[in-house]
Amino acid sequence: MFVKVYILDAPYAIDRPFDYLCPSALSGQIHSGSLVTVPFGMQNRLRRAVAVELCEQSENTKVKPVHAVLDDRFSLSEEMLGLCLFLKEYTLCTFGEAVKTVLPPGALSEAPNIRIRKLYRLAKPREEIAALLAGKSLRSEGQKTVLRFLLDIEEADSILLREQPGVTLSHIGALIEKGLLVFVEEEEYRNPYARFGTQGDRSPICLSEAQSRAYGEIERLLLLDEPKAALLYGITGSGKTQVIMKAIDRTMEEGKSVIMLVPEIALTPQTVHIFCTRYGGRVAVIHSSLSQGERLDAFRRIRGGEVDLVIGTRSAIFAPLPNLGMIVIDEEHEHTYKSESDPKYHARDVAAYRCGKTNALMLLASATPSIESFYKAKNGKYTLVPLRERYGGAKLPTAVIVDMREELRLGNTSPISERLLGALKTVYDREQQAILFLNRRGYHSQISCKKCGEVLTCPRCSVSLTHHAGRGGNKLLCHLCGHTEPPPKVCPSCGSDELSFLGYGTQRVEGDLSRFLPDMPVMRMDADTTGQKLAYDRMLEDFRAGKADILLGTQMVTKGHDFPRVTLVGVVLADTSLYVSDFRASERTFSLLTQVIGRAGRAGEEGIAVIQTYSPSHEIIRLACKQDYDRFYEGEIALRRELSYPPFCDMVQLTLTGENEAVLLGSGKALTDSIGKMLSGTYSDLPMTVFGPFEAQVYKLNEKYRLRMVIKCRLHARVRSFFRDLLSEYAQKRDVSLSIDLNPLSI
Ligand code: ADP
Ligand code: ZN
Ligand code: ZN
Repeated sequence: MFVKVYILDAPYAIDRPFDYLCPSALSGQIHSGSLVTVPFGMQNRLRRAVAVELCEQSENTKVKPVHAVLDDRFSLSEEMLGLCLFLKEYTLCTFGEAVKTVLPPGALSEAPNIRIRKLYRLAKPREEIAALLAGKSLRSEGQKTVLRFLLDIEEADSILLREQPGVTLSHIGALIEKGLLVFVEEEEYRNPYARFGTQGDRSPICLSEAQSRAYGEIERLLLLDEPKAALLYGITGSGKTQVIMKAIDRTMEEGKSVIMLVPEIALTPQTVHIFCTRYGGRVAVIHSSLSQGERLDAFRRIRGGEVDLVIGTRSAIFAPLPNLGMIVIDEEHEHTYKSESDPKYHARDVAAYRCGKTNALMLLASATPSIESFYKAKNGKYTLVPLRERYGGAKLPTAVIVDMREELRLGNTSPISERLLGALKTVYDREQQAILFLNRRGYHSQISCKKCGEVLTCPRCSVSLTHHAGRGGNKLLCHLCGHTEPPPKVCPSCGSDELSFLGYGTQRVEGDLSRFLPDMPVMRMDADTTGQKLAYDRMLEDFRAGKADILLGTQMVTKGHDFPRVTLVGVVLADTSLYVSDFRASERTFSLLTQVIGRAGRAGEEGIAVIQTYSPSHEIIRLACKQDYDRFYEGEIALRRELSYPPFCDMVQLTLTGENEAVLLGSGKALTDSIGKMLSGTYSDLPMTVFGPFEAQVYKLNEKYRLRMVIKCRLHARVRSFFRDLLSEYAQKRDVSLSIDLNPLSI
């Protein structure tokens, strides 16, 4: 018997199956999906590999034997193997990279971190033991203590038993000999959510009329025995979660399982709590702050069919749930669903693939769907399920646009306008709460010299340094590579001491707020204050509990949170992402503003949103204020069609990276030539429009220079093979590396 294997750490150029012999000693242990070690190359160094196919024959005459089979608990199921091949094909990654993405971290180590509990339990029924204790036949006090103790707590390890007064190891040994006690070794699951109990509380969900209609449509789709997809397009506050929850209930009633993806910052203890209390021990929660052991154990529970619902961030899309009935992607427009490192997959595409294979329903949900998804919904590829009313008659907040140029003219140089200040005071008087959003951390965003114009930039990257003040120390920080330096007293270029500090971030706003409104406690939430997920969670809980009146922060404050006492939302500067040279800039700004404005006035109280901007008449800002997604979509899709952007074509981004600028520029030319040759030769049938090479927006990052090319085309198998050929060619190069991103999020 022979087996075809992929080597896990194979470089791109040799990422293909190799034949090996199954030695008779291992026969029966190797199946497709097994993790094995094999001798590889001239030196026969042992490499980890994945078996993909068993076969009777091999064309190779000198096949080597498989060396060993690794832990079968983490072998790949047929479906997961399929997923890996899909990832390899559609993101151009290697098979090994796909495997490492599909399996939890640590699964591929020599000895995966599995916890074994060693326990003693009673070997006879409780009544029998009780009778024995009541009788006279057992005389040893130590032995009696052990039995009494175990009657009480069912099981205990040897340490705990020997802590009981008068108990020694020999008592335990004697009880085992008498057949009254057994020693068991059990694998234990580390589950930080076990405290929610196993039962779950499935109280019925009462939907509003509008919600019922939406649910009805989803239920109809769920029960169809074919692949299908729906877009639940519900405005902010419409109660999408309730509808989704009912759909989850329904899927489980059918005996099927569900994956629900949420963005990392929406996976708050509050969300987890709601789902864990509802579905009890049948839930697994997966996110980046689980320990390696916890992730391994979640994987094993899922694989073993002990879980019906997986809630998690992007990588949870690979959860090996048997019998999948539905995949939900909440806030489907979120950029975190696209992986920025290899394999550069989008969770939505993986979901579509899995639903296609299993006849499950892909349910996307958002108040501001991505243009691509809404386009598919309009064209019938997805079923559009609209939910156009806020739950409980809550009104959309009134939005006020404040022209910051006018503020300047009136002599107000603070980032807080008179209007916003007034609104904050009202919130204070009414004992309500406010959220302020500014997409920039730090104090000042730029330092420049008034004399020579020099802007202080990072020595490792081509971006300006941000000034951070306050508790973290007074320093200049690069937000890309983390480089820090003390703020200079004089210009490093001309020596002048006239430096100007420009632009403001969250720290500056925090400072101004505490000066203008000393009685209103402010909580600042950004990457500097939340460092770890726990800090972030705690701050949200504290704000909910009323420990601050104002929650000020970056994007973290905009998403999915539902704070009933928040009646004011302020956008400190709406323009930050508007003028970025990226075809998705409008989409991102619109969605960010709509989501943050939607945070206000969700529980009967009327909400107000104050939007500060230097471009008060900008269409995107006006539409976001009205929460008018439909109009926004019409404008945007027309533009995309005219300029031929996705969804009307696919975009491919090629990035050349190198430390030596001159060599890199040379490679840029060579790459252009290679592409030209291929397109006029072997691949002359492929219509492609090639742009570049040009410098990446951040040209220098962490001491490396980056050139970009962009290609517009329609992706299909042959186009992918074109890019694979390019990658193979560059995989051999030493001083530059090429990476290819199919449909990147930003260009
Ligand atoms: P969305 O995610 O669509 O912005 P949410 O799911 O946060 O909206 O719902 C807004 C608020 O309305 C939440 O506090 C939620 O608990 C409440 N709500 C929505 N639908 C219902 C329902 N059917 N029954 C009870 N409360 C609901
Ligand atoms: Zn200067
Ligand atoms: Zn830097």
